[in-house]
Amino acid sequence: MPGMIIDVHTHVFPPEVMADRQRFCKAEPAFASIYSDPAAPMVDAPGLIAAMDQARVDLSWAVGFPWQQAEHARLHNDYVAAAVKEHPWRLRGLACVHPPAAWALAEAQRALGLGLHGLGELAFYDQDLDLASLAPLCGLAAEAGAPLLLHTNEPVGRVYPGKAPMTLARLYALIKAHSATRLVLAHMGGGIFFYAALKKEVRAALANVWLDTAAAPFLYRPRAYGLAVELMGADRVLLGSDYPLLPVERYRKELTSAEAGLSPADLDMVLGGAAARLLP
Ligand SMILES: [Zn+2]
Repeated sequence: MPGMIIDVHTHVFPPEVMADRQRFCKAEPAFASIYSDPAAPMVDAPGLIAAMDQARVDLSWAVGFPWQQAEHARLHNDYVAAAVKEHPWRLRGLACVHPPAAWALAEAQRALGLGLHGLGELAFYDQDLDLASLAPLCGLAAEAGAPLLLHTNEPVGRVYPGKAPMTLARLYALIKAHSATRLVLAHMGGGIFFYAALKKEVRAALANVWLDTAAAPFLYRPRAYGLAVELMGADRVLLGSDYPLLPVERYRKELTSAEAGLSPADLDMVLGGAAARLLP
């Protein structure tokens, strides 16, 4: 019998943002870089739930955006918290802040106090990971026993909107500095899982690290899922769709493909078993 289907990476936006995204593009360069294009899809919480029903997804983690303006962050975190309260069986909510902002830690604490379950998708879209500003947020997540979903991407290859100039060396330093923080690295962790094959150090350092599959169908051949499972363990690879960027169906097709090479047990773990353990 198949287990629960859990999607750990979906984006919901408050109706205010969806109604007038151009207004929010002002003074929000990172947001503008991804969402000023009217074709970049956005969805609210009811839209997400409808898509989950259609794709037979039991539970989704809804994440915000790392707004640079405090009022935008508050608006978004309040919205995700309200959505989670309204749909406690269908949604888990992550609080999002712009790590370098002076108010970031206080807003993250406030949002966790509203009942949000973790932090994410924290991101630096226009620079490498800033470890100093991430440190207090990693500390907060560790203290709360809450996952921290971090945007990562492959440091080589095609350039596209939302691709950050990040390095695996900086990411690895973050992981080592915050071994008590449950880090979920979005978008296959930028490929860092390959280094779990090293004989020394890395595998142990990744003890508290998970990957999600968000946007992988745009980026990787399906075999990458099988390699990640082989190198990290099936309990470390989480279905994340980046919905509404891509529907869950697309991932299901790739994850169940012969090229991915996942056993039924692996597949169960990736589609929800691992996420259910990480955040029940
Ligand atoms: Zn991302």
